[in-house]
Amino acid sequence: MGSSLTMYISLVATSGVFTLFLCLYAYLKREEMAGARTFMLYTTAQAIYIFSVAFGMASSTLQDIENWNIVQYVGMAPAPALGLIVVLQYTGKTVSRRMAAALFAIPVLSIVMVATNEYHHLFYKSLSVRAGSSLPFTDIVIGQFYVVHGAFTFGSMLAGVVLLVRKWQSTKKAYRLQLVTLIVGQFLPMAGAFVYLMGMVPNGMDPVPVILCVTSAMYIWAIVSTRMLTIVPIAKESIFESMGDGVIVLDSADRLIDFNGAASRMLPGLGVGLIGRTLDEAWIAMTGSPFPLNTHADVEQEAMRWQAKDGSYAFYQVRTSVVRGRVGESIGSLLMLIDVTEPRRLQEQLERLAYHDGLTKLLNRTSFIYRGKQLLREAQESGTPASVVLFDIDFFKRINDTYGHETGDFAIQHVASVVNRLLPPNALFARYGGEEFVFFLPAAARSGAGELADRIRAALAAEPLQADGETIAITASFGVSQSGSDGATLQALLKNADMALYEAKREGRNRVRLFEEAYPA
Ligand code: GH3
Ligand code: MG
Ligand code: MG
Repeated sequence: MGSSLTMYISLVATSGVFTLFLCLYAYLKREEMAGARTFMLYTTAQAIYIFSVAFGMASSTLQDIENWNIVQYVGMAPAPALGLIVVLQYTGKTVSRRMAAALFAIPVLSIVMVATNEYHHLFYKSLSVRAGSSLPFTDIVIGQFYVVHGAFTFGSMLAGVVLLVRKWQSTKKAYRLQLVTLIVGQFLPMAGAFVYLMGMVPNGMDPVPVILCVTSAMYIWAIVSTRMLTIVPIAKESIFESMGDGVIVLDSADRLIDFNGAASRMLPGLGVGLIGRTLDEAWIAMTGSPFPLNTHADVEQEAMRWQAKDGSYAFYQVRTSVVRGRVGESIGSLLMLIDVTEPRRLQEQLERLAYHDGLTKLLNRTSFIYRGKQLLREAQESGTPASVVLFDIDFFKRINDTYGHETGDFAIQHVASVVNRLLPPNALFARYGGEEFVFFLPAAARSGAGELADRIRAALAAEPLQADGETIAITASFGVSQSGSDGATLQALLKNADMALYEAKREGRNRVRLFEEAYPA
């Protein structure tokens, strides 16, 4: 018995030395190590715990044992919470002050409870030297708060293990050894604490300090061999994962190597099953067509329209950059996807508002003139005639006066839709003013334009507006002008068409008039 106690105490003391070594290492590397301060606090707490267990075991009075036990809790109670924070930081999570404070509430209470146990016996109902045994073996009867403390200790450690295990899938092979070290480093003390808290070890000998000897040795080995703690791949992985922009990594053969969560959210269907396939294969699987852009240059591409198989779409701006190896050779590429759907939609909306009329959705006068000028120039350059047809609804004021302004609006929409139906696809159709419209016909001479205008006139007359249970007859008058080889401006064509329209009105409305030079200027 004596020799196993001596061995226990020396193992525990060794464990304490290892832990102090880890603490010192963190102190020396504090500049390059993320979370060095937490790690130092964690190892300090463990060292306090471990050494006071050793001193308690070496004590010769119950009073000494109780005193060392209190010191032990100063280290042991906060250690699991600190361990959990180390894991949280390693896995790239940010730990707010409030969260940290919440994690220390129970440990602080545990220390207070243990220190004041003789007044309330809430932690230990009783603590006594084992009958028939020599010191330091003690028997305890646990109290209510011991259960709280035990549950919290075990829970924090379990949370740490779970967090680490969940990182397994997303951790690169090269870093899995570090992850294993951390998982084992969290799991073994947890198992030890469980066994101890359940009262499953003989003589009340806490196995955790001995286990910490093993795990600290593992940490030291991992630090030396994998530079654990100074290279924090999981935290980097978390940055990659938490980026709002999508990132796709390709190898030199354009095969999919990796992508982050944002990329899989932006590109529904992008899953681990596509890793190893070429980008084109993956794109075909997701959209039905190959990747539309070049991936072998450092360029910022125009916004790319993404259309998923389910019909949903988005716009992504794609930035490609070539990843280079040590001697500058290309070893792959990075695609960065920036979601520009919202700005793009806003832009389209603004364009719609700027170029179109809200009531009829036709082009407005300004865009008609802008595009009409281009079409006229093209027609003149190719020597083909082009025509302009201007028309105005007859007695429109009467419609407004009789049926109200809203019905007047319906009438305007009705006319727009009837005319739209009859126009050839190359016609440029616009709302010119209130109830006045215009269309430009490239490659149409005056006579052809006049015949089309007359078909439209007849269709309008034959198709009255049905509104408010009323049938409202609507007619319009048309003026047609044509550009020839004279190099007439659009302005002049519009003026001529307007004169012809005036003639149509004057001659009784519901008719088409072609412009003739004879009209007074
Ligand atoms: P005419 O046959 O000579 O063209 O007679 P008209 O009554 O149609 O006369 P005019 O073309 O001058 O009438 C234009 C009227 O159209 C005046 C205005 O109140 C009405 N108007 C203009 N824009 C709108 C609109 O957006 N909605 C409605 N409901 N009425 C409009
Ligand atoms: Mg009118
Ligand atoms: Mg008018």
